[in-house]
Amino acid sequence: MQVKRGRGFLSTPGPTNVPDRVLNAMHRPAVDLNDPDFLELVNSCFDDLKKVFQTKNGEIFVYITNGHGAWEAALANVLSAGDKLLVPETGNFSGGWRDVATAFGASVQEIPNDWRRAMDPAKVAEALAADKAQEIKAVLLVHTDTAVGITADVQAVRKAIDSVGHPALLMVDTIASLGTVDFRMDEWGVDVAVSASQKGLMVPPGLGVVAAGPRAVEAHRTATAPRRYWDWGARLQSEGYRKFCGTAPEHHMFAMREALDMIFEEGLENIFRRHQMLADAVRDCVSVWTEAGALSFNAINPAERSNGVTTILTAEGVDAVLLRETARDVFQTALGGGLGKLQGKAFRIGHMGDLNEPMILGTLSAVETTLAYLDIPYQRGGIDAAIRSLAEARKKAAAVAAPVAGPISRVA
Ligand SMILES: *Cc1c(COP(=O)(O)O)cnc(C)c1O
Repeated sequence: MQVKRGRGFLSTPGPTNVPDRVLNAMHRPAVDLNDPDFLELVNSCFDDLKKVFQTKNGEIFVYITNGHGAWEAALANVLSAGDKLLVPETGNFSGGWRDVATAFGASVQEIPNDWRRAMDPAKVAEALAADKAQEIKAVLLVHTDTAVGITADVQAVRKAIDSVGHPALLMVDTIASLGTVDFRMDEWGVDVAVSASQKGLMVPPGLGVVAAGPRAVEAHRTATAPRRYWDWGARLQSEGYRKFCGTAPEHHMFAMREALDMIFEEGLENIFRRHQMLADAVRDCVSVWTEAGALSFNAINPAERSNGVTTILTAEGVDAVLLRETARDVFQTALGGGLGKLQGKAFRIGHMGDLNEPMILGTLSAVETTLAYLDIPYQRGGIDAAIRSLAEARKKAAAVAAPVAGPISRVA
């Protein structure tokens, strides 16, 4: 076994770094599941999760599960067998959610798309307009498809649905986007938002979170898909035990409380700005590397590139798996691999969650070291471009920032 010293970098697009504060918050004894202080903590988390989803009208459901479970939780509550669903293909994750829907007996119509561009909302409008009988129950949209590194325009998809007067629910996978980029559930007319603990929320893997708006809760009353653990009905009753359909994931809730405190200390706006700044630095660096021809951005349109993850394609003859394994095993930096049809053809740099400049520079440096080690051609100067990008962004923020809390303005 190889001896490893120092702290490695977790630069996968989930799970992300769990802050020490969050880990430490978990280091305490279990409590009586009806302990009033604990129930109060749970209620405060549910209230604060609404703020993160930017919803006043939504109901929050927290499950002991991962993102896949949260997908299933959302569908089990609004679907009946035979329901029609519309799924714009965004990348690997729209396919994953589609497969859950198919397993529930839904009839899925997919809008095909290459994995290199965001879905054109006009195609969603077109598909819904063609549904004269208005049988499509819901549109399933992935906000940030983590496989391809592209963030969709959720609001534009909502407008597309409304533009043809279709009653379909809008269900959005925010697993990679929540706490990373702006997501406004109420303002954007999202009926169901699905998320998980281990990405932008900075909590260890293990919680699935679903926010359901009034139209979705209404749909749940008549939907007939089999459900018990996932059922919103019992969970809407106030007792803590029912909220979780059994014993609460106490330590995960301690972690969630701490993570939410950290989120509000920094402020959502500052969090989004920090992600933008770090993502810009990654992109500036990768742009330089790609000049040598062995690497390229998966997302063709720069405006669609995700602020949480960058997917980098490798040219024929470059072993993306070896690259990722070398970065992890030799240089202690875990990257994401290519998923689905990008398997073996891409790697991904996660830049979401509890992350700062030296961490992102460490990751980029480890990737560049890996490229050098494996003799993969890259244009030199990427790290320098990232450094300049970060310095300029901080300077600009310091010049304009109002004196509010958060790491950007604190510099001023
Ligand atoms: C990570 C991710 C998932 C899957 O979440 P798991 O917790 O691994 O089940 C689904 N959708 C998106 C967009 C993701 O980023």
